[in-house]
Amino acid sequence: MSTDVDVLVSGAGVAGLAAAHALGGLGLRVLVLDKQREIRPVPKGELLQPGATDVLADWGVADELAADGALRLSGLTVRDPHGAALLALDYRTLDTGRPWLLVHDYHVILAALARTLPASVELRRGVLVRELVRDEHGRTTGVRTDGGDLTAGLVVAADGLSSRLRRNAGIEVERADYPHRLAAFELTGQPLGDDVSTYVTSRGLAMRYSLPGERARLYVQVEPDELRGVDASAAGGWIDGLVRDVPALAPLREDVARAWSARQVLPVGRSLTTSLAADGLALIGESAHSVHPAAGQGMNSSILDAASLAARVRELDGDLAPELLAPLLRAWSTGRRPELIAVGTTSHNATRMISDLSPFGRVLGRRALRKTGRNRRLRHTIMHNMAGLGQHSLSPLDRLHQLGVLPDPRGGQLPSWARSR
Ligand SMILES: Cc1cc2nc3c(=O)[nH]c(=O)nc-3n(C[C@H](O)[C@H](O)[C@H](O)COP(=O)(O)OP(=O)(O)OC[C@H]3O[C@@H](n4cnc5c(N)ncnc54)[C@H](O)[C@@H]3O)c2cc1C
Repeated sequence: MSTDVDVLVSGAGVAGLAAAHALGGLGLRVLVLDKQREIRPVPKGELLQPGATDVLADWGVADELAADGALRLSGLTVRDPHGAALLALDYRTLDTGRPWLLVHDYHVILAALARTLPASVELRRGVLVRELVRDEHGRTTGVRTDGGDLTAGLVVAADGLSSRLRRNAGIEVERADYPHRLAAFELTGQPLGDDVSTYVTSRGLAMRYSLPGERARLYVQVEPDELRGVDASAAGGWIDGLVRDVPALAPLREDVARAWSARQVLPVGRSLTTSLAADGLALIGESAHSVHPAAGQGMNSSILDAASLAARVRELDGDLAPELLAPLLRAWSTGRRPELIAVGTTSHNATRMISDLSPFGRVLGRRALRKTGRNRRLRHTIMHNMAGLGQHSLSPLDRLHQLGVLPDPRGGQLPSWARSR
């Protein structure tokens, strides 16, 4: 059956554009639709992990980002409120060709992805995808837009957290919100060192890292209503409180005050759908899963979704016939979902250690941080997982080592899988 295009992607965020790269790279005719007329600058994903950067390098996007002034940061450090390191993940010790965190603004990353799309991809902006079009068996055959229906062998839902297409397909999502919000500030004036520093404080987490162009990002954990009605005249009092709680941020006092009016307060949660696919439909990026931003995983897992989907679709050699595609999508979902569960677990455990404000959670979190920080084997495993280089899940015994319940005789060594490489 002939279709308008081979693949129709709804959404041109990082997931949709990554899908267009990966599937367009197979020679498929791909049409990407996005309801926004232009890319809007939002603080939404700036840290690219080495695993995703490797994929972006294959697509020519990493070079574009380097030419646009992307920064390379050396790793992630969890610190006490005065700045002393509790747990340092030094990416320079990773066994990979790009052992760094690549940093740029989300809209610059999107622009670089869009500029380098393969010739068989068309991107149309300002087109709202209203719903799925399905045949009499319930199989997705295309999408409905205000300009008419469009048919495709495969529809990719990359339409973000509140995905219309996911709801339309009736795919369930398990979601949990964190009890806090993140206040996001974009600071100008001084570079903030070459790592991502996360402070564990009595108010929860504060996180800062440099951005290109002598700018920096600061996230501060806040109560849902903490900043409501705090205008510029009252900001000084709030910033004084922040510096009291996190003395290491004292040098940034003026920068935060300058950034006050442009601050954003973002809700944070985690979610995962019960399946990543239905007949003729694949879900990628935040339409299928989301995590707390503290571990810098969301954008990265979206890019790896696209790469893993294309690796499967490649097996069909361009023939997207429904009877071939349906079992392949099911197999992709079954294989990819456990990887996303592992990403979610890593992100959630890391987030809990630094953001939990309950008395019990605080004691446990600080203890786990200190013990993990001193354990080379666990540190390296967590760093490898977070870097997107593959998953080596922590065992229940490892959790006991993290909490200091049992001493770890191998704690001074690299993990065995890393030693044998
Ligand atoms: C504060 C914050 C910080 C973060 N920091 C990081 C980080 O440092 N590193 C990291 O890896 N991740 C980070 N993330 C996560 C990252 O932003 C997401 O994982 C990523 O943006 C998901 O991309 P996406 O393409 O799935 O969704 P989105 O970026 O939301 O894109 C969805 C697109 O679909 C379009 N769309 C929606 N509905 C329709 C429709 N009906 N028709 C047509 N188009 C439609 C939208 O216009 C949009 O362009 C962060 C997230 C937040 C909130």
